[in-house]
Parts: sequence; C-alpha cells; structure tokens
Amino acid sequence: MRLVLLGAPGSGKGTQATRLREHLQVPHISTGDLLRAAVKAGTELGRQAKAVMESGGLVSDDIVLGMLEERLTAGDTGNGFVLDGYPRNLAQANALDALLGRLGQPVDIAVQLDVDTELLITRLAGRAQAEGRADDSPEAVRHRLGVYNDATAPVVDFYRNTGRLACVDGVGGMDDVFLRIIATLAPTPEIG
Ligand code: ADP
Repeated sequence: MRLVLLGAPGSGKGTQATRLREHLQVPHISTGDLLRAAVKAGTELGRQAKAVMESGGLVSDDIVLGMLEERLTAGDTGNGFVLDGYPRNLAQANALDALLGRLGQPVDIAVQLDVDTELLITRLAGRAQAEGRADDSPEAVRHRLGVYNDATAPVVDFYRNTGRLACVDGVGGMDDVFLRIIATLAPTPEIG
C-alpha cells in the first residue's frame, strides 16, 4: 500500500503515520524528519533548509524532491510506504506523480486528516511547551498554518479530482482516528 497522509500542522499526521507503519509493515517517510536529520547532521542541504524551517516556511521544491527521490529509491519500499509531509503544494504533487510513475509505484490513496484551525492552534501550543520545537513558536505556527491553507489545501483537491482521496475526521482520541483511517483502507465489499 502506497499511502500519502495529508493534514495541517498539528493534525496528528506524525502520530498516525507511525501507527500505519506498524499496521501496514511499510516504511514511514516524513520529509520533516528527513529535513530535521539533515539540519542536525549539518549537511549542505541542512544548512540551506534550517532558517526557512525555523520561520515556518517551505523549503525549496528542488531540495525536498531530491531528498525524497533518494529516500524512495533506498530499496525498502517494495511493499509500499506511508508518506508524511509531502506533497505540500501542487508542484510537489505533480512532481510526486511523475517520480512514482517513473518508479512504477503510483500512490494508491491520499488520506486527509481533517481538524479545525482553533484545535490545531491549541494542539501546537501544547506541543511547543512539551517539545520545544523551534518552529512551534507562535509566529512560526501562524506562518505554517497560513502556508497550509494557501499552498497545501489545493493538494487535497488534486487527489480528490483524481479519485484518490479519503477524508477522515481527525478530532478525537488517537485510537479512534486510527480506526477511522483503517476503515477507509479496507476494500469495499462487493455488492450482489
Ligand atoms: P508539520 O506538519 O507539523 O508542519 P513537518 O515535520 O512535516 O511538520 O515539517 C516541518 C518543516 O519542514 C515545514 O514547516 C517545512 O519548513 C519543512 N518541510 C517539510 N516537508 C516539506 C516539503 N514537502 N516541502 C517543503 N518544506 C517541507
């Protein structure tokens, strides 16, 4: 199963991606995690990405695509993957389809976690206190939510228009949300 997980910052993508990895027995590929690892390792790519990540903006499409291609060709995605944090704009959505088309591994389904903005802000404020991530400062959070609405929300329509979207209510306990996601993946029973 090749699954793309969509949702705003704070929607619970990371948490659900970890569970999906266990459930589906496929790697969890998070572009945010890959970028944070590059920053921590102090690579050239990490140096380029650091400031824009801390401000809550998007790292350049070229950088992220190159990094993602490297990860998707690492040889462990034969049974699929859970992709988290990509695509974040329409250019990335098209680039992903092109890349996966070349690899013969098209996306099966995009699952969108739906959570309203007020709750996202509350969750991210809680995480800022608990984890101290640099991009969880109030200004960066506001910027990230704005970027999501402007650039990433159209990606939801991209998958809807190509018949690959499942929307899931992301409000509630983590187990409940997970069960809702699993329910969208189960094959629909044939009628008759
Ligand atoms: P969140 O979903 O909570 O914002 P992520 O860990 O997915 O957190 O991403 C953190 C930051 O990493 C983003 O705000 C952005 O700067 C950068 N980033 C992650 N994925 C991408 C991407 N696909 N394109 C551009 N920048 C990205």
